[in-house]
Amino acid sequence: MTPLQAPPATALILVVDDSKLNRDLLCEYLDALGYASESCQNGTAAVARLEERSFDAVLLDIDMPELDGYGVLEYMKTRDALQFIPVIMISGRDDVPSIARCLELGATDFLSKPFNPKILEARLSGSLEKKRLREAEQELIRMRDALTHMIVHDLGNPLSVIQMNLQMMRMLGEGDTERLGHLDRAASAMGTMIESMLDLSKLESGTMPVRLAEVDMTALLEQVEAEYAPFASDRDLVLGVEVESGLVAIADVLLLGRVLANLLTNAFKYARPATRILISARRDNGDVRLIVEDDGPGIPDELHERIFDRYYQVESAESGVRAGVGLGLAFCRLAMNAMDGAIRAESAAPHGTCFVVTLIDANNRRRIS
Ligand code: ADP
Repeated sequence: MTPLQAPPATALILVVDDSKLNRDLLCEYLDALGYASESCQNGTAAVARLEERSFDAVLLDIDMPELDGYGVLEYMKTRDALQFIPVIMISGRDDVPSIARCLELGATDFLSKPFNPKILEARLSGSLEKKRLREAEQELIRMRDALTHMIVHDLGNPLSVIQMNLQMMRMLGEGDTERLGHLDRAASAMGTMIESMLDLSKLESGTMPVRLAEVDMTALLEQVEAEYAPFASDRDLVLGVEVESGLVAIADVLLLGRVLANLLTNAFKYARPATRILISARRDNGDVRLIVEDDGPGIPDELHERIFDRYYQVESAESGVRAGVGLGLAFCRLAMNAMDGAIRAESAAPHGTCFVVTLIDANNRRRIS
């Protein structure tokens, strides 16, 4: 039986309220509905219990001694294992600011005391169903990723057999040169795809080595310019570099180089002929900002986040380009996260795309928010 078909186990609910009467009432009520429950008399005890045991939902009061309901919500938000547990607030308060604050802090729902038991029953079962579906979806994603990883990993061996045989055929003068060229290019494109997918898995699982050190941005961008200017002129494009002097960022120079390579490859792909691609680096608001800007068709504002999803590609009649598989920007996002940095897309004026990479400034080592 797969996890998706498993019968629902009795849900375990944590009741948090400083009034014993309310706790007992809620627990009795949950029992009558067929749920298991536990109770705590304040936020501090609730947080400790949430760390010890796995609960399916929390019924939470706001006003309690020691740690109040807001504090519990804040705490749960910071913990990966707790942030998706549904929390239904049950409070004597019914004013809009209190309700809004709870919802902002991640509460799933809000019921004012005295509450209607039928409404609590409906809200609780709705929240538990959503949680169950989310967990089933996560499990499917995990299974899909594990399967993809296994297949991709195993594709490397037959691919190297193909590449070795192509090499032998060339050496022995066998086969048609043009066809061999097509096969070579297809095989190396497949090799790049396999490498990208394996790298993404490594970044996601935290097994990609990340060596953070001081990176002199002038030296890095001079090197990038020397490497990529010939590709730009082949495509009738101009590559410009502007760096503020003395700029030093904290990064893994190899990973950052690969992020820039992905951004530049895209810029070369999409820029209109005879336009300029500009890489600039400067201090901004205490961080180092690295910007790659092109004058291509641009990306609609509402897709500026989606393009960082795996396999996502913008359908654009204007650009007409659809080479690649949509892994480059997913790699950039994970690589920047691994370097405690960030990356986002913006629209360039009057048209085109601007990728903004944010890095920690070595002269001002504060975390990027
Ligand atoms: P790929 O280039 O392999 O398709 P990416 O993850 O690098 O994958 O990019 C995802 C999508 O974002 C691209 O398919 C393209 O639609 C869009 N995109 C990325 N960079 C640019 C750019 N500079 N200009 C316009 N569209 C872009």
